[in-house]
Amino acid sequence: MQDTMLNKLDLVIRGGTVVSGQDVVEADIGVADGRIVALAEGLPQARDEIDAKGQIVMPGGVDVHAHIEQVSATGLMTADDWQSATTAAALGGTTTVLAFAAQHRSMRLSEVVADYTRRAAAGAVIDYGFHLMIGNPDPLTLETELPALIDAGHRSVKVFMTYDRLSVSDEHILDVLEIAKRHGALVCVHAENHGMIAWMSRKLLAEGKIAPKYHARAHPRLSELEAVRRVIDLARLVGAPVSIFHVSTREGVAAIRAAVGDGAEVYAETCPQYLFLTADDLDKPGLEGAKWMFSPPPRGHADQAALWQGLRRGDLQILSSDHAPYAYDDSGKLKHGPDATFKEIANGVPGIGARLALAFDAMAHDGPRGLVRFAEVTAANPARIYGMAPAKGVITIGADADLVLWDPDQHRTLTDADVQDRAGYTPYAGCTVRGWPRTVLRRGAVIVRDAVLCARPGSGRMIARQTPGL
Ligand SMILES: [Zn+2]
Repeated sequence: MQDTMLNKLDLVIRGGTVVSGQDVVEADIGVADGRIVALAEGLPQARDEIDAKGQIVMPGGVDVHAHIEQVSATGLMTADDWQSATTAAALGGTTTVLAFAAQHRSMRLSEVVADYTRRAAAGAVIDYGFHLMIGNPDPLTLETELPALIDAGHRSVKVFMTYDRLSVSDEHILDVLEIAKRHGALVCVHAENHGMIAWMSRKLLAEGKIAPKYHARAHPRLSELEAVRRVIDLARLVGAPVSIFHVSTREGVAAIRAAVGDGAEVYAETCPQYLFLTADDLDKPGLEGAKWMFSPPPRGHADQAALWQGLRRGDLQILSSDHAPYAYDDSGKLKHGPDATFKEIANGVPGIGARLALAFDAMAHDGPRGLVRFAEVTAANPARIYGMAPAKGVITIGADADLVLWDPDQHRTLTDADVQDRAGYTPYAGCTVRGWPRTVLRRGAVIVRDAVLCARPGSGRMIARQTPGL
């Protein structure tokens, strides 16, 4: 570090315990022009100073799975817009999000991306990018629009193997995998077997089993296993990497581990709702269980243990939120009235704000290894896998100064009244966590101070992503 550089520090974050890659060190962080330029003890006085004594300094959270201001295939809008979703994210310690630009059957992908870009640019308070969600795999989409958008920096593509109005055929998944491989993008997949779910749902409804709890029964564990194996084989045929979203079952983790052991290039995530909730949470009076409905559904305690093990062993590299907020009223979950069947209730739970606090509580009180693992699965790995490293996800010289100061001992009980997104409830109400993000910086600017937002809507920036560093 040259003295001239040290004289030009805009900001020093002083005296914290810094989680930097594989290291946990007592160090000051020097910031200039929005980037980390120094990481050492005893940095000189800067224009601005933040006292981080007694706090854990983590890389800003990178959440690579969120549905924001998104219209579903059935025409339902998520409860959040860009401002409310990214406000909840920032207050929860997340500084980068990848959401979806969702193409439905008759839409032009380029128009969809332009529309989502405009809305994100107006509202976002954190940095962002888009997965290109392909619901209309016609020749214009596949041969012209998709390559151009990937080349422009949208370096991930989402396909569904289920849902009547969204799923694409194996043949089209092969097309998407090949185009993504050629142009340098990663394909992410919602992997469940559509036929199994449709068949189970039909049988349950015919027996009058319509309550929210039957949603979990309608998504058999085998439907995940079959689809995970199939899409891995489709990717192997093309010779492309693939990323499996929201793994929920022990068998799903085992299938991914086996395929990787066999040479397949597979990345995978899980989400808080699979680590902290079970199918029993859907078993509530009336339609109350709708608040815990999402796909795939939560499973059992043995699955939770397998998912934690998968995160520890690296079979699963990413812990995302899959934030998909629908209010528990007629704008969202209850749109089809008090007699709605589980098939008519919107799938999804909020989690963009709670993701990191839940994970910090579970992982970060375990010594340095736990702190490093938390930083890996919530920031470093998602940033690297989705083409945002080295600017995002790690506290290192040259990276964006996206930083979160955690008070490791603050206890907080999650309640519906405290949620910052617009779902109006949290599936984790009543859960007490230890550790809370008090100060959040995005590119060196304080956007959360003492757990209060101080960022302007539209101050988040779109990230031009690189070819994923796989
Ligand atoms: Zn999702």
